[in-house]
Amino acid sequence: MVKYSVQKRTPEGRLGEVTQWGDVNIRFETPACLLYTKGGHIPHLTWDNVEKRLELSQPPVYQLTLPSLFEAHSAINEYGKGVANFAGMPDGCPVHLSLYDPLLLLKPGYNETKSVSIWTRTGRRKIDPEILCEIVNYFKPQSCQAISDIDTPVDCANKRLTKAVTRTVSLLKDYLEKMDAKNPCSTFASLAGGYSSFHRIKCAEDLGAQEVAAGFTIDGFHSNGDLSQLELNAIEPLIVKVLANLPSGKPRMFNGALNPSQVFELVKFGVDLFDSSFSSSLADQGKAFRLADNYPHDNAFHTIDFNDKSLADDFTPVFPECGCYTCKNYTKGYLCHLRNTDELLCPILLSLHNLQEYDRMFVKIRSYLKEK
Ligand SMILES: [Zn+2]
Repeated sequence: MVKYSVQKRTPEGRLGEVTQWGDVNIRFETPACLLYTKGGHIPHLTWDNVEKRLELSQPPVYQLTLPSLFEAHSAINEYGKGVANFAGMPDGCPVHLSLYDPLLLLKPGYNETKSVSIWTRTGRRKIDPEILCEIVNYFKPQSCQAISDIDTPVDCANKRLTKAVTRTVSLLKDYLEKMDAKNPCSTFASLAGGYSSFHRIKCAEDLGAQEVAAGFTIDGFHSNGDLSQLELNAIEPLIVKVLANLPSGKPRMFNGALNPSQVFELVKFGVDLFDSSFSSSLADQGKAFRLADNYPHDNAFHTIDFNDKSLADDFTPVFPECGCYTCKNYTKGYLCHLRNTDELLCPILLSLHNLQEYDRMFVKIRSYLKEK
């Protein structure tokens, strides 16, 4: 179960609180993000880095990504204590299993009636309700994303959309029938229906009726990867309409590498949960970002690109106003040197800053909504 309650509704988003995530008691205010992991760790960071150097506003919930862990599932089963323990994650933090990696592009054309496909290091793997039950039993996450058919691009035909909705509802039903009712893992139902409000609402109604769903994941608006071109204004009426058809007391998650402007747009539409993959992606590119001073009144942000060699003799802090470990200890010139010599310390320091800034973004959004 995910014990979630809406604390306040405003025209620009809702404030909520999770007090229990699976079998973990937690106080987790929303809007917020799950911390993105790959292979059971935050990219570039050791758990020691995370505990000593990353200052977050509240205890984290970690997002596991199945493509990066699938090949280890036999080893995790043999280990017997679940994936969080296997990966040495900090004790007592809930983990949520996502079927996809928000930074890996989805390949179209591989979903079937009884399964969907993910891509791991060794190639394509079919995920059906039986395999997902097995993985949940081995991994022991506090929650997981249900299987859904989201391979429905913007020009998708009605017949294909109808098929996607029918499959998604039946895959969830099948999974819930196969899963041991005593398993504490909560399920986030995944909404299909592409860009058709009729099909999205049909899926929302059919899944909304599934009282066992702990929350909802809104998928199928993009294929992951770089989302900088994702125009949310065009899909606003659709998302708002779909969310209105979901039970209001359950959290809604939108996964993807979303920038601060996009996150605030989605909060306004009524989304509660995100993931931090944007921060990791930016660190991989050698970039750091900073929110506008009056974010989210002004939902802009700016980035520094350490590939830019003109920063080599800039000895000011990365962002002088930032209190993170990186900004307190290092200069732009040093980060530029690390990036240009391909030092492993560069993505470590950028990840620490970007994750802390992404977390601060949600603090600012929550304060803004509290004042509304
Ligand atoms: Zn910083």
